[in-house]
Amino acid sequence: MLVVMKRGATQPEIDAVCDRIKEFGITPVPLPGVERMAIGTFGSTSRAAADAVESMPGVSEVVPVSRPFKLASREVIASDSVVRVGGVPVGGGHALAVMAGPCSIESRDQTLATARAVRAAGAAILRGGAFKPRSSPYTFRGLGEEGLAILAEARAETGLAIVTEVLTPGDVDAVARVADCLQIGARNMQNYALLDAVGEQPKPVLLKRGMSATVEELLLSAEYVLARGNRSVILCERGIRTFEKYTRNTFDVNAIPLLRRLSHLPVVADPSHGTGKWYLVAPVALAAVAAGADGLLVEVHPSPDHALSDGFQSLTFENFASLMAQVDRIARAVGRPIAGAAA
Ligand code: PEP
Ligand code: MN
Repeated sequence: MLVVMKRGATQPEIDAVCDRIKEFGITPVPLPGVERMAIGTFGSTSRAAADAVESMPGVSEVVPVSRPFKLASREVIASDSVVRVGGVPVGGGHALAVMAGPCSIESRDQTLATARAVRAAGAAILRGGAFKPRSSPYTFRGLGEEGLAILAEARAETGLAIVTEVLTPGDVDAVARVADCLQIGARNMQNYALLDAVGEQPKPVLLKRGMSATVEELLLSAEYVLARGNRSVILCERGIRTFEKYTRNTFDVNAIPLLRRLSHLPVVADPSHGTGKWYLVAPVALAAVAAGADGLLVEVHPSPDHALSDGFQSLTFENFASLMAQVDRIARAVGRPIAGAAA
């Protein structure tokens, strides 16, 4: 349930409600809002507890929360959450946040060249995997710590914020020391130990939809992170596996407005993994922006033919610059110019 306090309810009134809820063996979760305080009790709510607090001083109403996800739900937090990645605000009607860079960090030269190119084209955040989840154990699995050091150098030189993937709970500290945002990949969307671990540290989390995950499962995975105390979660639609074989995945454009309706969390789109084909990235990126995405995640490589991972879906610098010009037009049409791009 959600106990909505009256506007101007006093701290002693709020404390009294929390204490009363605890008497029923339930943990209250204070949720400060812009206008008023709410107190959530999730997982185990008794009718008796609801009745007990309903008429207490300062209480406006007690609302049942019908969705299985709670802290991720718009029922609980009505206004858009803004997640700050480095200095870049994502969500809440802020300018479109474009995250771009190679699938994998392969070398210093490759990463720095890409960082400079995506920054010049208007991206605000550099993406790139140092720890790579690969379908085959015989393919390139990333440079690990060396890749993190390269990302740190790219940020120091370009000022771009960094988003990079973490694969195991044991790597969370090392990745969080460098990253401005921790990526949880599709393959790990339901790795609950990893979700708990990123939920217990303060850096924002970019949570990618699992390849066969429903929208509700994605939101329940977000709930794991939120429930551990980290309220900075960005959701990412990156396509789901269907019977279609011409494309790597089927990009679910429905998910963008649906997630924004069900949740207050920012939603970004990944048309690179969503399609698997470089020539489909731009049209799908534009569709995602038109559908209300708060940002984009796009793979870019100096020489896609030589990429150690995901070359076929990576854009050249030139194609990325041309995509950004097109995205800017659509973004402006829907009232969201690109963060970092000249006005
Ligand atoms: C990636 O972003 O390079 C990646 C591995 O993505 P996903 O987890 O969506 O497959
Ligand atoms: Mn990739």
